[in-house]
Order: sequence, then C-alpha cells, then structure tokens
Amino acid sequence: MPLDDLVLGVQRVFDRLVRRLRLGPPPAPGRRRLLIVQIDGLSRAVLEEAMARGRAPFLARLLRHRGYHMAPMSVGLPTSTPAFQLAAMYGVRPDIPGFHYHDKRRKTDVYFPRGGDAAHVESTQAAGRRGIVTGGGTYGCVFTGGAASNLLTFAMIKRPTGAGLIRTASKLVVIGWVLVKGSVASTVEVVRALLRMVADPLSPASGSWKWLAIKLAISVWLRELFTLAVAHDLYAGVPTIYVNYLDYDVAGHAWGPRHRRALQALRRVDASIHRLWRVLRRVPEHGYDLYVLSDHGQAASLPYLRLTGGRRIEQSLFEDFFAADTAAVTDAREREGRRLVSVLEALRAQRAPGFFQRFVNYLEQDFPWVLGGMRGAREHDGIRVIAAGPNAFVYFLEMPEALALEQIEERHPGLAKRISASPGIGIVLVRSASGPLCFWRGAPYGLDALAAGPFAGRADLERIVEGIRDLMSMRSAGDLVIYGIDAREGNVSFVAEVGAHAGPSADELHTFLIHPSRVTVPAPITHPIQLYPHFASYQSDAA
Ligand SMILES: [Zn+2]
Repeated sequence: MPLDDLVLGVQRVFDRLVRRLRLGPPPAPGRRRLLIVQIDGLSRAVLEEAMARGRAPFLARLLRHRGYHMAPMSVGLPTSTPAFQLAAMYGVRPDIPGFHYHDKRRKTDVYFPRGGDAAHVESTQAAGRRGIVTGGGTYGCVFTGGAASNLLTFAMIKRPTGAGLIRTASKLVVIGWVLVKGSVASTVEVVRALLRMVADPLSPASGSWKWLAIKLAISVWLRELFTLAVAHDLYAGVPTIYVNYLDYDVAGHAWGPRHRRALQALRRVDASIHRLWRVLRRVPEHGYDLYVLSDHGQAASLPYLRLTGGRRIEQSLFEDFFAADTAAVTDAREREGRRLVSVLEALRAQRAPGFFQRFVNYLEQDFPWVLGGMRGAREHDGIRVIAAGPNAFVYFLEMPEALALEQIEERHPGLAKRISASPGIGIVLVRSASGPLCFWRGAPYGLDALAAGPFAGRADLERIVEGIRDLMSMRSAGDLVIYGIDAREGNVSFVAEVGAHAGPSADELHTFLIHPSRVTVPAPITHPIQLYPHFASYQSDAA
C-alpha cells in the first residue's frame, strides 16, 4: 500500500523531530527487539483448518517458506485473555478465575472492561516484577506488561501515562491517516448495508446491524489503527511491542469459531500481519523477532437462555437451588442497572422507530456496560452468583475465604451434585478436604478419576488436571465453579454467545506459538507462564 508508506514516511520525519526535541537519541543498535502479535481467541485447530483452506495465506507462507515454526501451546485454566496475559507478561500464577468474578476479601467484583479493574489486578498481582513490554508499547491488551505507551489497553484506558501521551502526539500523522481511511471504509460499509436492506427489506435486519457495528468498531477502525501504530513503532525501533488483534475473537463469540464471518475476520488479521512483516523487512537493522500466538481458543456453544426459554443461570440457581425470595436484590450496581432498564422500557413504550429500538435492544443485550449496567451478577441472602461466559461462580459471602464442599454441604445438602445433574450444566468444581472435586452428571470425581468420567478419551488429561488444580487454588474462584462446557446438550454458555471460552474443551485449551525457527522456545509449552523467561530475555539484552 504505497499511500500508507507515504504517510509513514512523513511520520518518520515528524518522529525524528519529536525525538530530537523530547525523547533523546534513538535506541542503541545491536540488540534483538521483540514483536508479539496475539490473535485473540484462535485455537490451533481452527488456525490449521484455516491455513489448509487458504483463509490465513500469509501465516501459511510464513511457516512454509520464511523459516518460522509453530509450537503447540496449552494455555491452562481459565482459557481467558487476562489470565493468559498476566502469566505471559509477568511470569506469575494469576488469581484470575475468569473475565468477570468476585473478590470476597475486597467485597467487590472484578470485571475487566470496567475502568480501573485491570489496573488494580496488574498492580497487585504483578507487583515488583519486570513486565516483558517494559520500555515498549501495548495495543488492545488487558494489561500493560510494563509498557510506557498503551493504546486501548484495559489497564490504561482511563489513565494514559505521560510518555504515552508524547508518543501518541508523535503518532498524530498516523492517526489522522487512520481517520481518513477509516471514514472511507465506514462509508463503504454503511452503503453496502443499506443496499442489502433495500435489496432484501424483509430480512431480519438486527443481525446485519449487529454485524455492521462489530465490523465498523473493531475490524475497520481498531485493526487499522493498531496496524499503523505498530508499523510506526517498528520504524522507530521501539524495543518491545505487544499487539492484540481482537477481530477474530469478537466475531467468534457472535457467530461461532468456525463461522464464515469469523474466518473472514481472521483473513483480515492475516493481511495486517503481512503488512507488519513488510515493514519488518525494511528495517532489518532493528533486528526484530516476530512471534504470533493466541491466548486461548473458543468452543462452539449454545446460549443457556435458549435452553431455558429465557431464564438466566443466576435465576435458575436462585429459584431451583437456593430458594431465596426474589425481592431482596441488594447490589447497588444492579439497582442502577434497573434504573437504566426502566429508562429503556420508557423508550420502548414510546414506540421508538424500528432502527433506534433495534439499536437500543442490541446495546442492552450485548453491551450493558455502555449503558452503565453490569451483566450477569446477582446477589440474595449472602450468596452472589456471577455468570462470566461458559463459566459461572457461586460465592457464599459469609466467609472471606473459600468454602470447601464439607461446609457447603452443611448449608445446602447435595448442592453440587444436584446442580451438575441439571439441564445445561457440564461440570461443577468444588474444593474439598481431599483436594478439588469435579461433579459431572450428578456424580463426584477426584482429579485422579477424571478419565473415568467427564474427560474420558482426552489425550491431554494431564493438562486438564493441572488446569483444574490451578483454577481451584485461586482464592477468587467461586466456592462453586460451574461450567456449561460438555453439558448433555453440548457446550453451553451462560451469556448470549455462540462461541465461548474459559473452559477445558480441547479447542479452548490448545493454541500455538509461531516463532523464528532459529530461536529455541520452551517445549512443550503447557502453561503461558513458560513464555515469560523467553520474552523477558529480550529485556536483559538491553542491559
Ligand atoms: Zn473472547
């Protein structure tokens, strides 16, 4: 793309100026630099299928003709971005049981998209460790990894750093270009969608509007912004860069991990990596090593709501198992959410025009936090339930520490057994005096007996046992950890999605690390914590 090159050329001149004015000399040559590209949510199985079908042509070429290897990687439990990134970036075993959970000791929920939550987890759990992105830049990550420059990284969304601001200012040319390009691309998408609606006015339009919104927000703008910003960093010789492309994961949640639209998103990410590769070839003197990896895969799943005719898992648990009175909703955030719901109901009562109403419905269902609500949390009578994905947590709030099975049995006899036998439930994990137990279809299995029950026939049984042991030793994991993965009905998610992750299915657990074949990476990679010393060695090169 020659126009991109022209813009980046202008940017380089601008940068040299900024560096002379503000940032001092360029980084010293003679050391290896690190570029990590994460394709969020892509299992090894889907990548291999996609490469075989020509849906990831650049990655296929990288492996076949460019001297790169693909190492298999198991990512541990939960199969979730924040747990992966904390382990890989800092080399610590995270206390992050899911994307949304409760911390009984601090009496608060942790919900990663919410401003401040990621920053708090990073500052407490990675305290005193040197992150692998120290002195570099992160894009679209959950944590900073120590980077001074962060763009749309959860931990820094509301708290950009000084150096980050100077760098952002120096990226103005690139950002301006992204705005121009993004506007053109957005206009094209809107016109296309309108044409589709004109051509087929009776089609269920909500689906295509939803897809349009996802495409506009993530596929066009973010991917473009990330790719150009990273290209800019590569020309500037930024020592370490960690960029996370979210497109595939978002499309997978909405349409399923093997859906045509998810594979289209992957195809576009593949093209972006190709563009970064071309930049790398122009700056061999910077000595970048490129790694492409994924933090977890996804399992095709069925929304729990569809099985139950609209009853959420929180409701089912309280009504069928805890028998609490349904009036005593105590959480203030939920009250706030209800206030917003009533605003929405008022809007609905006024018969908002179809398009606007569809948009509001869509926001309410899929992005409640945009409206200030918090999805999937409910509390009655000292019990808090959080639905985070294909996983849900039950917390008995009376004690700040986790309750073991023996204590839960005193309060609710047969609870784990009964829940595990109910519709839409796969396994229920609980701590006990003899170690973690896994209830499946109404029967308990110790970790040494998993092959006789829920995980019969799995060649990666060892990884599952380790994963469950790690998960249930996290202090913030629920007193009950409930998975919809491997329910009788198939894989079930407790939020409205048809691609899900956090659980132990083979596609969720097994990803890949693509690396230059002349570097030696740990083998086998059974947990992302093993990536830390490898990536951190690029830091010590600097010393
Ligand atoms: Zn995801």
